Formats: sequence, structure tokens, C-alpha cells
Amino acid sequence: MYYHIAQGTIPTRALEYHVVNHCNLTCDHCCSYSPLLSPSEVDPDELTQDLHALKGLLKPQLLKIVGGEPTLHSNLFKILSSAKAVQIAPQLSLTTNGCFLDRITDECLMLLDHITISVYSLEPRQKSIFKSFIKRAKKFTVILNWKIQDTFSQMDRGELSTRADAESIFQSCWIHDRCHSVRRGVFYCCTRTQYLKDLYGETPFTDDGVRIRDTRQEKLLQKIHKYLNRTEPLNSCRLCYGGQAPLRPHRLLSKKEQTLKKAQVKELCRCIT
Ligand code: SF4
Ligand code: SF4
Repeated sequence: MYYHIAQGTIPTRALEYHVVNHCNLTCDHCCSYSPLLSPSEVDPDELTQDLHALKGLLKPQLLKIVGGEPTLHSNLFKILSSAKAVQIAPQLSLTTNGCFLDRITDECLMLLDHITISVYSLEPRQKSIFKSFIKRAKKFTVILNWKIQDTFSQMDRGELSTRADAESIFQSCWIHDRCHSVRRGVFYCCTRTQYLKDLYGETPFTDDGVRIRDTRQEKLLQKIHKYLNRTEPLNSCRLCYGGQAPLRPHRLLSKKEQTLKKAQVKELCRCIT
């Protein structure tokens, strides 16, 4: 899609903020690479700084707090209240795997408009937890979206694509219009880059995002506009099947598989030139 500048701002669908890298589950093909990463969480003040840098330049309809598993953040309320205070988007949502719904306190519910709950398996115990959570959410008029996740897209390639193939994968990939995100001073059109950086390092992914701090607003607006309308692929696309990725049944990775996969992804990153 083509992004327009309207009254000095770029209207977008949504903006994600990934507040933790870690998760209690180890899903194969997790697009956040959580099973391969060390635990890490974002400081609420940093989140505020990032959102303020984009406020007025981007106009997302929805700000999504995601992870990893965001309910594992040590101060979820502070994260949500900081995100809400910036008022970058009219709606605030949280995406969770539903394992720790009791961590979403009434104070958190008061701040939220939507919660997306991914359901991986339905144990009888989970059913009763869900039932009481539905009641609490209703009390605070929070809309719940249930996402049955019995399949996952296999985004990772076993070998790097050529630059020409990566270009056509990027151009047909719908994800870079749906998964805009910001973290640690960088805006991304696709979330995979921020996790590849955490897994492997800054190089070769530096130009896959836009640095948003210490740049004049007008110059930054032009930079983000150009970036969102780019046709050349990200370096991250060389490792990815994009929007055409095949579907695989949901399964959890063993410790051994996590170690092996981490080594494979790192080796591919090393080969990007
Ligand atoms: S629950 Fe979500 S974040 Fe956690 S491993 Fe599975 S896909 Fe990744
Ligand atoms: S193909 Fe590129 S833009 Fe699309 S999901 Fe993969 S890394 Fe992101």
C-alpha cells in the first residue's frame, strides 16, 4: 500500500510495542524469536520516549502492547499507563498467550480497549480461568478477541534467498503493512528485525529500521514516509518466507531444538553481505 502524508502526519493501521523478549512457552516459528532469546524487558520511560518521538508523525488507529509474553513484564501497569498517557492512538490493546490472565489487574483493564488472547490448547482448568476473565473484561468494557493458534506460519528459511528473490518476497509481503513497531529508538515496518538484532547484533540490520531520536520532526517525517513506501527489501527478508510462508501445526521446541535453531539463524545472519 502507499502511505500518504495528511496534515503533517502519516495515518497507519496500528503500531506495536514489544515490551519483553521472553515467554513461558517455546512455540516453534514464534515470529518474535522468543524461545531463542534471553529474557529482557523494556523500561517504561524508554517506551514513553519512543512513543513521544513518533507522536504527531504517525497516526495509528491502535497501539498494541505485545511481546514475547507481555504479562511477564515486571510492571505491566506502568507500561500500560505510560503507553496510554502518550495518546499516540485512540485505542490501546494487549496481546497475550492467556497463561497469566490474573496478572492483568483491574487497574490494567481500566486502561485497555482490547485484549487479544491466543489459545494454544484448551485444558479444563483454562476454561474456568477464561470464564472468570470474560466477566472481569466485560465489567471494564474491554473487547476480547480470541485467536485459536493451532497452526503457525513458518517464516524462517533454511537458507538465505537471493537479493532478487528477497525483493519479490518483500513486495508481496502484507506483514510490513500490519506489523509496524518501535523500540529502543528505532521504528520498524516489520517486527522481525528488532528480534534478529537482539539475537545476532546490529549489523547487518542497521538500515532495516529508522532511527527516531535526535532528528528534526520534519526531516524524520520525510524519512519515515520514504521508508514506509520503499520497494527494496530489508536484510531481514533474506531469511524469511514473508506473507506466503507455509503453515505448520503448533508445537513447542525442546531445549535442544532451541539451541540448534538459534545456531542456524545466527549462521544465516552471519552470511548476509
Ligand atoms: S506464546 Fe507467543 S510469544 Fe510465546 S513463544 Fe508462543 S508465539 Fe512466541
Ligand atoms: S518478508 Fe521481510 S517484511 Fe515480510 S515479514 Fe519477512 S522480514 Fe518482514
